[in-house]
Amino acid sequence: MNLHDSGLLRQQAYINGQWVDADNGDTFTVTSPADNATIANVARMGKAETRRAIEAADAALPAWRNKTAKERAAILRQWFTLMHEHKEDLARLLSWEQGKPLAESRGEIDYGASFIEWFAEEGKRIYGDIIPNDKPGRRLVVIKQPVGVVAAITPWNFPVAMITRKAGPALAAGCTMVLKPASETPLSALALAVLGERAGIPTGVFNVVVGRASEIGGELTRNERVRKLSFTGSTEIGRQLMEECAGTIKKVSMELGGNAPFIVFDDADLDDAVEGALASKFRNSGQTCVCTNRVLVHDAVYDVFSEKLVAAVKKLKVASAEDEGAQQGPLINKKAVEQVQSHIDNAVSKGAKVLCGGQSHSLGGNFFEPTVLGDVTLAMDVASEETFGPLAPLFRFSTEDEAIAMANDTPFGLAAYVYTQNIGRCWRVGEALEYGMVGINEGIISTEVAPFGGIKASGVGREGSHYGIEDYLEIKYMCMGIK
Ligand code: ADP
Repeated sequence: MNLHDSGLLRQQAYINGQWVDADNGDTFTVTSPADNATIANVARMGKAETRRAIEAADAALPAWRNKTAKERAAILRQWFTLMHEHKEDLARLLSWEQGKPLAESRGEIDYGASFIEWFAEEGKRIYGDIIPNDKPGRRLVVIKQPVGVVAAITPWNFPVAMITRKAGPALAAGCTMVLKPASETPLSALALAVLGERAGIPTGVFNVVVGRASEIGGELTRNERVRKLSFTGSTEIGRQLMEECAGTIKKVSMELGGNAPFIVFDDADLDDAVEGALASKFRNSGQTCVCTNRVLVHDAVYDVFSEKLVAAVKKLKVASAEDEGAQQGPLINKKAVEQVQSHIDNAVSKGAKVLCGGQSHSLGGNFFEPTVLGDVTLAMDVASEETFGPLAPLFRFSTEDEAIAMANDTPFGLAAYVYTQNIGRCWRVGEALEYGMVGINEGIISTEVAPFGGIKASGVGREGSHYGIEDYLEIKYMCMGIK
């Protein structure tokens, strides 16, 4: 991997402004999902190093919190600028460790940087309230203050954006942070720390600890100095971390799994629906928590829609990241490939039909053929489990009520998509869906200016938008006697 700026490739952790090895010298291997080749050996930290990072964040807190929002914004703005200046290197690193096509990685750098810019600005608008007094002789004032030291644990599917979506609001609000990125993709996180340091983020304000997930997580969740945990990942680990946080009553933000329905009504523009389905299902090779997991199609348009979708899916170019025409990269690892294959095998054994794809791709590594399955029913695993891969299963429905009931029949509630040209139906269905986000005639809904997050087993809290900074603030009420 050739980078214009080789200083962005780091294999040590970043604690208190220092690049450091693990106390015992341990390292772990980072591999390329495209061919499983080793690309880096990164310091493997544990509990003791994490505790030092928390101490550093705690020591850095008073000075950072006491800066004006404008001073913090200037530093964050510089971080944003540096991300853009180094966009090509960041995108290459990202594709290298994560596998997504370079075009998608460049998109992620823009998207990731946008959170830093947005929250740098939003930090200046953390307004309080003056409440009309309840009695004479006193005044009631509400101020908002940073929660303190924040722990962030992030996944491998968006190795840059999932970090900036947390670090942007946390730092803008005046919090300091200890980040544990996914072990599959630590290089992007470490490169962000390099740029943060160059942007002037003071020592100890942003720390990156990489290595043993449960040891690092255990310290982050149990240490009293950490006042908040922001986690993006699986529902299973999120639940465990919430339990661990209960001991010290931390605030938590949880962005967890989904099981997104994509509903195509008989009055939908089918070409638009195919375009939306492609984008929401096959982006990042199906490895996003808002990816369509179930395509629900009205009986009357089922055949036409499935033909159009299959034709479009067959055209997707599966290739390694460096191929500028690539639209589908490899899955993150062998386990991910096995999960997709098991959903296909289970569905086929119960009567589903493979309309295209259906197996590992001839490119080898962790590449998988983009797949469409027809005649899928609620009895199949893919109805209730998140596939997290390039598999679009087509279910049938015949009434609006049935579509809503099928869509809501899951413990998850992150994103849902609806295609219809009927304005009344847009509202009815939009309101009836038990999800935190609904795309109506839109397949890509994430943006830094809107609140991203789920309900039910998909999590708590919102990221992005003016709502996103609230998760990093405490409300303080001051009752002032003026006699
Ligand atoms: P995925 O299945 O997408 O990898 P995970 O929930 O397993 O999702 O991982 C998301 C993040 O949580 C990663 O940074 C991972 O290293 C971390 N993680 C996994 N297990 C634990 C744990 N026991 N404690 C803390 N963090 C963990």
